[in-house]
Amino acid sequence: MNLPTQLFIDGSYRNSSAGRRSSLVNPATEEKFVEVAAAAPADVDAAVTSAHLAWKSGWRDLAPGKRAEILFSIARLLRDNLERIAQLETLHIGKPISDARDEAGLGARVFEYYAGAISNFCGQTIPVARGGFDFTLRQPLGVVAAIVPWNFPFPIACWKAAPALAAGNCVVLKPASFSPLTALVLGELAHAAGLPSGVLQILPGPGSTVGDALVTHPLVRKISFTGSTDVGRHIMELASRDPKRVSLELGGKSPNIVFADADLERAAEASPMSVFANTGQDCCARSRVFVERAIFERFTSQFIEATRALRVNDPSLDATQIGPLVSASQRKISEDFIGEARKAGRSIACGGTRPQAKGFYLAPTVLLEVEPGDRCWREEIFGPVVCIRPFDDESKMIEEVNDSPYGLSGSIWTNDLKRALRVARQVESGVLSINSHSSVHVEAPFGGFKQSGIGRDLGMAALEGYTELKNIYVSE
Ligand code: NAD
Repeated sequence: MNLPTQLFIDGSYRNSSAGRRSSLVNPATEEKFVEVAAAAPADVDAAVTSAHLAWKSGWRDLAPGKRAEILFSIARLLRDNLERIAQLETLHIGKPISDARDEAGLGARVFEYYAGAISNFCGQTIPVARGGFDFTLRQPLGVVAAIVPWNFPFPIACWKAAPALAAGNCVVLKPASFSPLTALVLGELAHAAGLPSGVLQILPGPGSTVGDALVTHPLVRKISFTGSTDVGRHIMELASRDPKRVSLELGGKSPNIVFADADLERAAEASPMSVFANTGQDCCARSRVFVERAIFERFTSQFIEATRALRVNDPSLDATQIGPLVSASQRKISEDFIGEARKAGRSIACGGTRPQAKGFYLAPTVLLEVEPGDRCWREEIFGPVVCIRPFDDESKMIEEVNDSPYGLSGSIWTNDLKRALRVARQVESGVLSINSHSSVHVEAPFGGFKQSGIGRDLGMAALEGYTELKNIYVSE
């Protein structure tokens, strides 16, 4: 397979100005398979400066219809290359190939959505008290730095780049160190589809150097970040000096709430993948399960049975549901949580072991008899580990659900519509699903309450975040 190994700046591939490279390791085999250029601060400056020029000299003022045409062309080219994108995603992060194919399609869909959204993104006319004519304009910011994580590298790169470009910004995108390949292909294909040079730059490299240089660059007007809460906090501090616009999609510890009147079969069948999909490396993972006591035993045994049946295997096989974790250190974090739970006498109902000798695999793990103060119950693990606890009282359960610094996602399972809506209103979280474990819809806003973030990706809300709101008054 043809692997991209350089930085993508100004419409072409080039090496790091400092000659830096970093190795990628296949998580399924633990073998190094390629070296990719790692940007230096001078490359950040070159990329941001040329993005700024591309913005001022054309992209900013391009007619909306022309921008939409280019975004539709990008979507078409992405669709023509879905298999290549999916294979690369699986290779560098160990994502099961069937998920990687779905997510490649999701990336293309995001470009289609924002291509169409351009002509529906409107200002207002406002009847101001003094009369005259008052209206608002949505104007692009300039250069947007998009910093993305390794767990959903391609779709998240698309859902930052597409709305930012649609709104008339230029983008410098920094993928995570584990996952530069599909971001580079996005830059290459977008350019081949007609995106002018400099409008989308891709800069692989370490967060500490490339990320900081991007965030503090004087020509960067907004940072759109997805990643951990700690790095998000650091970015916000750096950005406050200018100050720059910031949107942050951060960590989570999402609840899965199952009432006794739920469709038990459906809930028990769907719930394991609501936490174990992507090997638990999902900010929306429903890793705290609250089950009403009357069905606790039945639900838990069905959950465990369904978990044992999950196919943990080589991610390049079509039938695989759960691949390896992205790295040895990511697996160690989960194993440390499990070890601590074991030491505290918690029950490990299944998993906790390494199913393969090679590859960063870890069997999906169910912890029972955990206490509300346990680290595994309170902290984001970002691996295939779930805790299940019974509850008796709805309002006490909601208090416990909200007793978390996070508020990203969650599910509620019940056949009582009034209860579903009452609980949904009270759960402090940016995204909820009722009788479903779906979190992400291209057309709907996605983001968190509390320490799970600020601002929204996806939907029309993302376009708002990539624009300045200008008010114009015309006297009669
Ligand atoms: P991370 O915070 O370690 O890295 C995210 C990105 O930030 C990477 O590109 C990294 O290189 C970069 N980075 C690291 N240090 C930086 C710095 N000092 N300045 C600027 N950039 C820097 O996160 P991760 O390990 O890649 O991803 C896992 C985390 O992301 C989890 O906490 C997960 O919950 C979160 N996440 C959130 C969402 C969401 O939408 N809310 C989605 C996916 C992942």
